[in-house]
Amino acid sequence: MLATSFTGTLSERHGDAVERIPVPQRLIDWLAVNGLTVDSCTPAQLDLARELRESIHAAATAAALQDALPASAVQVINDCSAQGRAAAILTPEGERRWRLSSASCVEDALGVIAADAISIIAGDRDGKLALCASPTCRAAFFDTSQSRTRKWCDMNTCGNRQKKARFNANQRKTPRSAD
Ligand SMILES: [Zn+2]
Repeated sequence: MLATSFTGTLSERHGDAVERIPVPQRLIDWLAVNGLTVDSCTPAQLDLARELRESIHAAATAAALQDALPASAVQVINDCSAQGRAAAILTPEGERRWRLSSASCVEDALGVIAADAISIIAGDRDGKLALCASPTCRAAFFDTSQSRTRKWCDMNTCGNRQKKARFNANQRKTPRSAD
């Protein structure tokens, strides 16, 4: 999910937070990996991106908890969605690509992310918003599992850390054989 991977660029929000887009170049890199290639990004555009990210996080968290959506977050998401002028393009191979109005238009890329967030929060897609069970994370993620019982977000640190803790606990329980 584009919108929830984007909110994942700030991880461990309730622990030692890790900012994965500390400088404009890192946002350019992230966008490229996600099919939204821009050739430049100003510090102001990075600020806007982070504002959108935190707004999506706030709105998705409220939606997962079935709380009222925070009005300011909804405003930011809607503004970003309205400002973006990216066009969905169908490739000859039948894939969707995004064409931005100009290669410096980070706003177009943010518009695509905002629209993705809207479709997830509005319940347009097959899945359920949930919060990561890790107390230091609590990221909102989109659960598309059949049973809708996924506990961890997509950051592999969360689920893996839990698995490792369980594994270590089991190791301790099992007496070591004398060999
Ligand atoms: Zn998590």
